[in-house]
Amino acid sequence: MKAIRTFTVRPVLAESLAALDRLASNWRWSWSRSTHALFCSMDPELWEVVGQNPARMLGALGQSRLDALADDPTFVERVGEEDGRLQAYLAGDRWYQHLDGAKPRAIAYFSPEFGVDGSLPQYSGGLGILAGDHLKSASDLGVPLIGVGLFYRAGYFRQAIGDDGWQREDYPSLDPYGLGLTLLRGSDGAPVEIALDLFGGRRLSARVWVAQIGRIPLLLLDSETPSNSEELRRVTDRLYGGGGEHRLLQELLLGVGGVRAVRAWSTLTGTDAPDVFHTNEGHAGFQGLERMSELITRDRLDFDSALAQVRASTVFTTHTPVPAGIDRFPRSLIEATLVGGLFAGLDPVRALELGLEAYPGGDPNTFNMAVLGLHLGQHANGVSKLHGCVSREMFGHLWPSVDADEVPITSITNGVHAPTWVHPELKELSERAFGDALTTNHDWRDRERVDDAAIWQTRRRMKAGLVAEARRRLAAAEESAVAAPWIDDALDPDILTIGFARRVPTYKRLTLMLRDPERLTRILTDPQRPVQIVVAGKSHPADDSGKVLIQQLVRFSQDPRVRGRIVFLPDYDIGLAKHLYPGCDVWLNNPLRPLEACGTSGMKAALNGALNLSILDGWWDEWFDGRNGWAIPSADTAANDDERDDAEAAALYDLIENRLVPAYYDRAGDTPTGWLEMVRHTMTDLGAKATSDRMVRDYVTELYMPAARHDAELARDDHAPARDLAAFIARVRHAWTDVRVDSVDVDGATQHAKTGETLTVTARVRLGDLTPEDVTAELIHGHADSDGRLDRTRHVSELSPQAVSPDGLVTFVGSLRLTQTGPFGYTVRIVPRHAQLISPVELGLVALPG
Ligand SMILES: *Cc1c(COP(=O)(O)O)cnc(C)c1O
Repeated sequence: MKAIRTFTVRPVLAESLAALDRLASNWRWSWSRSTHALFCSMDPELWEVVGQNPARMLGALGQSRLDALADDPTFVERVGEEDGRLQAYLAGDRWYQHLDGAKPRAIAYFSPEFGVDGSLPQYSGGLGILAGDHLKSASDLGVPLIGVGLFYRAGYFRQAIGDDGWQREDYPSLDPYGLGLTLLRGSDGAPVEIALDLFGGRRLSARVWVAQIGRIPLLLLDSETPSNSEELRRVTDRLYGGGGEHRLLQELLLGVGGVRAVRAWSTLTGTDAPDVFHTNEGHAGFQGLERMSELITRDRLDFDSALAQVRASTVFTTHTPVPAGIDRFPRSLIEATLVGGLFAGLDPVRALELGLEAYPGGDPNTFNMAVLGLHLGQHANGVSKLHGCVSREMFGHLWPSVDADEVPITSITNGVHAPTWVHPELKELSERAFGDALTTNHDWRDRERVDDAAIWQTRRRMKAGLVAEARRRLAAAEESAVAAPWIDDALDPDILTIGFARRVPTYKRLTLMLRDPERLTRILTDPQRPVQIVVAGKSHPADDSGKVLIQQLVRFSQDPRVRGRIVFLPDYDIGLAKHLYPGCDVWLNNPLRPLEACGTSGMKAALNGALNLSILDGWWDEWFDGRNGWAIPSADTAANDDERDDAEAAALYDLIENRLVPAYYDRAGDTPTGWLEMVRHTMTDLGAKATSDRMVRDYVTELYMPAARHDAELARDDHAPARDLAAFIARVRHAWTDVRVDSVDVDGATQHAKTGETLTVTARVRLGDLTPEDVTAELIHGHADSDGRLDRTRHVSELSPQAVSPDGLVTFVGSLRLTQTGPFGYTVRIVPRHAQLISPVELGLVALPG
């Protein structure tokens, strides 16, 4: 019989162990090796049973064991030490406090998923892990962030693989109390309830769980409350469980409910209200509409001024170059929401327009959350340099007549939280070699401090750890009670090991390695120099094409010729990932370029001394340097997908056979010197930049600080500058159809131009109802290609307004100095001019000659 609800009865802790509660309810334990070890030491076997979670451990340990520990002076002393470390971590100044300049008071960070720890399965893949790492680094750096998400009662599914190779899904039932979360309560002690008035007269309520991530509170909204009907209680049942209205309700709760939860949090804790709002992907887009509604009802702003104010303070990060990865809703569903009274004071027609695909190639009956995100966020970014380029192309239609390279979407390359992802063995080596456990800011190339043997042995131990873990998991996954004998010999720590683990959307090409099964079999079973492959990955429950790929891989791995040389490990999650990355020599990634926005698993592998073997996509396109791994060439010019897969798979096999295998197995002494050279270089170079510390610092200086400054500037004098900006935008939009560049002339003969000469440029422009102060006349010049296109190195200078003729023709004049030889071009364009625009083309209004 299944209980309809479950909860955990908490033990009473003796005074001497009271700190254990504090330690268990701050998720810093998950990246503190010593706190982790403390809880494990209470009962190592039980620690595995409770899924390595301290709160669960305290619940499961039993009063008598706790009483015994309370009488153990050594243990009590360790508890005191760990508590002291935690308190020291939570107090005092960090990087952010020493940073100069106008800084945000607080940043609200919204994400549909958060991957903080394996025991809190509130993530499906990279997006969530990134959000978890973002919070952890913000904590380490002292950045005043508040995380906002949903609490999914069944989280994301756990994966099992049947004998037929087909994925099965199982949904755990989570008890937030038992995991170490606390319920947000009002000053009267009652749980805080957030309420949303929905269309159809329904009211959606939610409670708020607080997960303390170091210094950062993570607020998770949960629709499981007695105030809700049974139907509405299911809103936060699963992560990415449903579509249509279910998904919409989740996103309304995340965005609108999230803002309301942040308000409640700031009031109750007496902390600063956020002045910057960051949405990790588009799912939380409704947060912007909620804040507009606040400004309209509280500060009496009109729609456009509220929009300007919200845009100024919003950062939107896009994560996917795959249109199918973007949430889209039928227009009618959003219309019903907007007229239903959820957003007080907000004009439903105008609000709807902010998300409709009203551009060529779009569907005007579809409401697109990325479009909403870009309209509501003046500060937008992709997650690697290449993905920034792809995003500027992909969303260019929102900025008509603007060249793709000028579309105002920048990029900040993702990173990973080293203290979470670096293996304890490697931290120990770092401590021995450099005197501290930090692994990411040391020069691992220094042979005086750390010799080849030490690195090699550490890496071998990590690999042996993976082998043991893989056998354990393979045995546990067997459907029969007696594990098959081959499992005892599966994998070998002395064989070159390649890892591949991903979610399984088609573009990640889980099965590319199976393109030529015979060739792969030869590689795996080479008698002198074999290779082994460890694979893992979950397919979205609704995606049968992904399940077919998993099945193909599992079936291949069951072939007796290769069994134990290639294994598929079920249930890829943070727990498995922590064994996988450090345990592989090489991390493989073969997406269809450029569909991988960034990818972070390769970074986690690199910080553990693995070398990357990857298509030049996402972060690897940016940081591959020939010495940190290998690039699989992309066959972009192939005639079709099949040919492309053939060519790229062949290149992959070639690299393994001709480059990886010799580099790994050719040895003069005990260790492969050249290989270790690459490992040292990888750990030093990528250790400096592939971290989420670097990433969060970039977000702070490149996006959060400008957004806070912008927000403050517009909010002055009861939002007078916001109103002024809104009025300006309305005026130029209205007048723009009459803005034209009538003519551009240059004195002197350009056919005979020589370097050093200065030409005078005169542009005659019609501005309609605008004045010369409303616009900038830009002179753009530089190297021109054979089509006359100016490349990215072009220069921009301003022409100055001179006379206005009686018939309204404005003359702009400027000079053009020729400093370079070769094909040269110039043009003039008119763009709006306002101090609060972050880019001259932000409004998509550009007038060019002709
Ligand atoms: C890092 C990580 C991911 C994301 O890896 P990608 O390289 O971006 O695909 C997914 N799942 C888990 C469990 C991870 O740790």
